[in-house]
Amino acid sequence: MYSEWAKDEIRIDRLEIFAHHGVFPEEARDGQIFYVNATFYTDVHKACEEDNLAYSIDYGDACFFITEWMQNNTCRLLEAAAEKLARALLLKYDLICELDLEILKPHAPIKLPFGCVSVKVHRGWHRSYIGVGSNMGDRERYIKGAVEALEAHPLIKVKRVSELIVTKPYGGVEQEDFLNGVLELETLLNPEELLETLQKIESAAGRKREIHWGPRTLDLDILFFDALCYRSETLVIPHPDLQNRRFVLEPLAAIAPYMCHPLMGKTVAGLLKEL
Ligand code: ADP
Ligand code: MG
Repeated sequence: MYSEWAKDEIRIDRLEIFAHHGVFPEEARDGQIFYVNATFYTDVHKACEEDNLAYSIDYGDACFFITEWMQNNTCRLLEAAAEKLARALLLKYDLICELDLEILKPHAPIKLPFGCVSVKVHRGWHRSYIGVGSNMGDRERYIKGAVEALEAHPLIKVKRVSELIVTKPYGGVEQEDFLNGVLELETLLNPEELLETLQKIESAAGRKREIHWGPRTLDLDILFFDALCYRSETLVIPHPDLQNRRFVLEPLAAIAPYMCHPLMGKTVAGLLKEL
């Protein structure tokens, strides 16, 4: 579950597990002791009001889950074990919004005196808004197909889908009208992985990148990713043109009017009003 404010902590300290992770064959064969530290970030408010475990994360149950996971899987790297176990916990316990997960290996095969080695990861749910558009062929079918593909992804939950609106093409290329909408997602993917996923879905819909701003079966753009401001060779977040596009702001304002643009400091509803 994504949460903007959940910062209460439920902790598990030094859970001891005999398991078989390691790069060396004898580690996978003989096994050794590991310790797991976990901090679950959640909101305990409701559990507190009701004084009822049904509204919180059962740490006893989580200890058994972690132990079973550590014993039923064999990873070469602690990094892989930590990342995969973190993901499994986030998928299993919906009330965990974010977590720290540390795996310690006190008997790692190092021929030097040392206390312990460990790997710690921080993972959590993110909220992202995605602009969808289509202006070729069965436009509604392409957009529905994209929603279905996202729903089928194990690390993505589609939380909201806006109404679709018919809009005139943007950017001066002569072409058919567009159907546009916006989706709200929760995801365990990072922004670059999310972009890669969206581009695979575009390609599967027969999207060819020919003319810039030209006709397309399916266009999927990342509008926001939490309150992140990010720029790489392939990705800019927030989407740099969203404040100029009515076909983005209108459906976005319908599902997230109070979402604040992290660079402009204005709400989506405000940006739409100013356009
Ligand atoms: P547009 O959506 O502006 O019509 P394209 O869909 O053809 O253009 O995307 C062109 C490139 O934009 C993609 O290859 C992608 O790497 C890059 N890009 C940069 N920022 C984003 C973003 N926020 N969402 C999607 N694509 C982005
Ligand atoms: Mg695009």
